[in-house]
Amino acid sequence: MGLLLWFRHSRDTCLTTTRRTRRTPRRIEFFEGTLTSTDEIESVRIFDTTLRDGEQSPRTSFDYDDKRTIAELLDEMAVHVIEAGFPVNSEPEFEAVSDIAAATDATTCGLARVVEKDIDAAIDAGVDMVHVFVSTSDVQLQDSMHASREEAVDRAVASVEQVKEAGLEVMFSPMDATRTDESFLVEVIEAVSDAGVDWINIPDTCGVATPTRFAKLIEVVDNHTDARIDVHTHDDFGLATANAMAGFEAGAHQAQVSVNGIGERAGNAAFEEVVMSAESLYDVDTGIDTTRITELAHLIEERSNIPIPVNKAVVGRNAFAHESGIHAAGVMENTDTFEPGVMTPEMVGASREFVLGKHTGTHSVRKRLEDLGYEPTDSELRAVTKLVKEFGAEKEQVTDSVIVRFAEEVGVAEADSEEVRI
Ligand code: MN
Repeated sequence: MGLLLWFRHSRDTCLTTTRRTRRTPRRIEFFEGTLTSTDEIESVRIFDTTLRDGEQSPRTSFDYDDKRTIAELLDEMAVHVIEAGFPVNSEPEFEAVSDIAAATDATTCGLARVVEKDIDAAIDAGVDMVHVFVSTSDVQLQDSMHASREEAVDRAVASVEQVKEAGLEVMFSPMDATRTDESFLVEVIEAVSDAGVDWINIPDTCGVATPTRFAKLIEVVDNHTDARIDVHTHDDFGLATANAMAGFEAGAHQAQVSVNGIGERAGNAAFEEVVMSAESLYDVDTGIDTTRITELAHLIEERSNIPIPVNKAVVGRNAFAHESGIHAAGVMENTDTFEPGVMTPEMVGASREFVLGKHTGTHSVRKRLEDLGYEPTDSELRAVTKLVKEFGAEKEQVTDSVIVRFAEEVGVAEADSEEVRI
């Protein structure tokens, strides 16, 4: 498998052959209709910024132990790059980045402004890659950086040279690229490319990109550099993952993501959405162990104190839950009926749930009663289902103890003790 990966990612010198992931059980037999053609994307690399942009979520911070624990799991899942933090920020941040760099197989990246001491701190922390950034949009140059376009280019080039002289991989980000004058953006990209930059990251810093426009921008960038392209998208309009996938379709090699989509304002493209889109919708082998995605999401929820919305794609509590009668009955017969088919709960380490409530039909109630050891007749089943629907309509939770109470009320017989299924 290592060899196969090597050929698939032939332009990818960072990918080692020692990755230790389990293969995701694919469901490619389901590729029909809009899934028939899946050749838009050749390869997908994941740059995880949960520990950097994710940590910049308002009211969130990770301590040393949080950072080490999260990085360890990301590394075990075979994420390609871990952006561990901003080493110049503080002594504990420096220690965390430094120890993550020493302990992980993934490429460890440290963030730096186009400032010598920031880059020194990242180099001293022992990272494999330094990610330097400077604003390029006029609004940020004037009212945030207080620098001219010329100063921005000069400092970008000097910073790329400083990292290259230290013998490390360098990524350059023209911050706010999607609100930057295109001819100036091209000028910056050509300048840092001449200085030997390895990666150009195109950040949609304020989340204003749309998929088609973003794809066109990536094509423009690609025409002006030999460096590999990475994309960083934000979710201000709910388009972060769509823009990241459009970036890949346009030739980007890598996307920056954060687990559960945490990050500045409305957050970043979500790790779980980008990885599972790549695997399940584009049939690309990311090399990542997707079976630990749910575990990862819960770890980030706990350490960041940012609850996962119940309807969150892939990792929300409802992502593989069914209540309505038609859907639940279909899924009981064949899970592909009302789930994506190409993505199952097993693929992400989750489990399927049949929720009883206002929209429930008899199939779900029969299953729950049987699971609890009852053998309802058809008329008893209809009577219990009626009680469940009425109870659910009052916005009440239909728990197992509620079902037991209804079963007793209706007088449903219990199965022989040996046949009880728990
Ligand atoms: Mn960002």
